[in-house]
Amino acid sequence: MNWVRSSLGWKLLISYLVVIMVGIVTLTLAAESVIPTAFNRHMAGMQMMMGGHTGMQTMADDLFTNFLAAFTEALLWASGLATLSAVIVSIFVTRRVVTPVRYMMRASRHIADGHYDERVPETNADELGQLARSFNQMATALEQTESMRRELIGNVAHELRTPLTNIKGYMEGLIDGVLPPEPETYQLVYNEADRLQRLVSDLQELSRVEAGAFDLNLTKMSVDALIEQTAARLRPQFEEKEVKLQIKVSTSLPSVKVDEDRIGQVLLNLVGNALQYTPRGGLVTISTKPQEHEVYVLIQDSGIGISSEHLPHLFDRFYRVDKSRSRAGGGSGIGLTIARHLVKAHGGQIWATSEGLGGGSTFGFSLPTD
Ligand code: ADP
Repeated sequence: MNWVRSSLGWKLLISYLVVIMVGIVTLTLAAESVIPTAFNRHMAGMQMMMGGHTGMQTMADDLFTNFLAAFTEALLWASGLATLSAVIVSIFVTRRVVTPVRYMMRASRHIADGHYDERVPETNADELGQLARSFNQMATALEQTESMRRELIGNVAHELRTPLTNIKGYMEGLIDGVLPPEPETYQLVYNEADRLQRLVSDLQELSRVEAGAFDLNLTKMSVDALIEQTAARLRPQFEEKEVKLQIKVSTSLPSVKVDEDRIGQVLLNLVGNALQYTPRGGLVTISTKPQEHEVYVLIQDSGIGISSEHLPHLFDRFYRVDKSRSRAGGGSGIGLTIARHLVKAHGGQIWATSEGLGGGSTFGFSLPTD
């Protein structure tokens, strides 16, 4: 009986046969109880009309027997035909129902084996078609997650390789006596280890924000205060690099409901980048702009600028416009990705615009007013 339990086709056929059986039994029982009474009533009426003829009873019995035989034969034919149509219909329905289910079974096994490009045909418009569509959407999402995972592992390996190779090179130089055992050499090793440490903590932070595994401690506050805090923290670096920092806040700005530390982190990243990519003598301006239900914070710099083809990718993980330059500056290309997640968690948007190479850049984000 296991084959019945494991096959939808057999289950369908058996259910049709049960319906046919119930029909036949009901019809037979109904006929047995109704036909003799109706027949006798009819014969009695005829006898009265014909004036009580003597051979009438024998004729009635004979007629009844023949009628019963004809009825039974008709019932048998009907049952046979019904069973045949049950088989045909169940084969047809099974094909329509079971085939897409089988496709999905096969595809899900393939996906489980790591073939994420597997898809099923979406032929029907009914529930099975919708199921196939949902299945394909799920497969696409899995494929994207898998490719992101692979890309992430590749990127992390790549990012780790460079400082590790450098450290190994310096150590080999020291062992072979090519590099002098002096504080400058140790400083080089220290810088690489420092870069590794920053990368690891950036990665930790990235995995936390990507998984949404952080709580927002929202408080009502003015954006100006946040900007002032960031400016105070970075002013010494601006002075050291001789880049001017200008703050232009609009008056009567509504307060926002934000996590002070998190938005502070976003500002620190954007203003820090503006400083990093602006040459000596340049200018960085932080300004605010009230919008409907929002406040815009804009960080504009007169720095190296970004050409248009890079703009859409700036917030992607590990994306760096000039890989060698920003790596030398210690950038891992994760800061803007973290910033985007944090701004989104507050219900805002983040964007970047630039006049192109040499034209400076403007990074902006919005925060909903409370
Ligand atoms: P990084 O740590 O490398 O700075 P980010 O995610 O903060 O990483 O930035 C990604 C890339 O965007 C940087 O490597 C840089 O190429 C570019 N970028 C960010 N801010 C600016 C800016 N103000 N001017 C020019 N390029 C920028």
